[in-house]
Amino acid sequence: MTADKRGLFFGDMKTINSIRSMQRKARELCRRHTIALVPTMGYLHEGHLSLVKKARKAADVVVATIFVNPTQFGPGEDFQRYPRDQKGDRALLRDAGADYLFMPDAQQMYPDDYQSYVETEQLSQTLEGAFRPGHFRGVTTVVSKLFNAVRPDVAVFGQKDFQQAVVLKRLVKDLDYPIKLIIAPTRREQDGLAMSSRNAYLGPGQRREAVCLYRGLRRARTLFAEGVTSAARLKKAVRKEILEVCPTAEIQYISFNDFHTLQPRIKVDRDTVCSVAAMVYDVRLIDNMRLG
Ligand code: AMP
Repeated sequence: MTADKRGLFFGDMKTINSIRSMQRKARELCRRHTIALVPTMGYLHEGHLSLVKKARKAADVVVATIFVNPTQFGPGEDFQRYPRDQKGDRALLRDAGADYLFMPDAQQMYPDDYQSYVETEQLSQTLEGAFRPGHFRGVTTVVSKLFNAVRPDVAVFGQKDFQQAVVLKRLVKDLDYPIKLIIAPTRREQDGLAMSSRNAYLGPGQRREAVCLYRGLRRARTLFAEGVTSAARLKKAVRKEILEVCPTAEIQYISFNDFHTLQPRIKVDRDTVCSVAAMVYDVRLIDNMRLG
C-alpha cells in the first residue's frame, strides 16, 4: 500500500466507534489537513456515494458517518425497521474513497441523562416538519453533535432532502460554525425515482408506481417551461399526474417554495422548488425539483 500526496493511505479506511476517539483523531488531522464530513444513516446507495465523491474533491480527508438517529424519528415511524447493512456499507464507503467511518452507537450519542437539543425555530415547522413534528430538532441536534466530533471544514448533504439543506444552512449561519456546506444533486434510478434507503421497503409492483413523484415533478417543470406560473394550477397538474401513475398514492403535500428561503410561492419562478411527499403503499416517499 502506498501513501498518497496527503500522506494518507488510500483504500485503508479506518472505523471509529467512540466520540472521544473521533475528537482526538479530528484534532490531530485538522493540524495538517482539511476535513470533509458526509453524514448518513447507512444502507448506502449511489446517492450517498456521490456525496462521498464530492467530499473527496472538496477536502484532504473524508469522514463518512453512519448513525440511524433515533431523535429524528417520530413515534410510529420506521426507526426500528430502518434497513441496516454494516458490512456492505463499509465496503462501499471504502471503494468510494472515504478515509474514516465514524459509527457511534445510540447510547453514546444520547445517554440516559441526555437533555440538550438544537432547534431551528421557523424553518423546521413547515412541509416535512408539519408531518413529522420534532424531526428537524433531531436532525439539527445530531448534525451539531457530528460537527463537534469531526470538526469538518466542509460537510456534504443531498438536495434530495431539500428542506433539510435549507435548515442546515441556517444552523451553520446562526451558530457560527466555520463549515462550508455543499449540497449535491439528487441521484435517481433509470426511471427517475430518487434513490433512497426506504425504496427497499417497496415490492416490485409498488416500486414501478413509486416513480409517480418524479413524474409529478417533471410535469410541473414542463408546464413552468411552457409559461405556467400559478402555483395553484401547477399543484393541480402535479396531483393529477401522481394519481395517474399511482392511483392509491396518499399525497401529503405538494408545495412550491423559494430555493434559498423556503418561503411559499403563489407565483413561481426559476428559483422555486416543487416538493412532494406521499405515502405509496405505506412507504413514505419525498422528492423535489427546482423549476428553473
Ligand atoms: P440518509 O442516509 O437518508 O439520512 O441520507 C444521508 C445523506 O444523503 C443526506 O444528505 C441526503 O440528502 C443524501 N441523499 C439521500 N438520498 C440521496 C440521493 N438520491 N441523491 C443524493 N443525495 C442523497
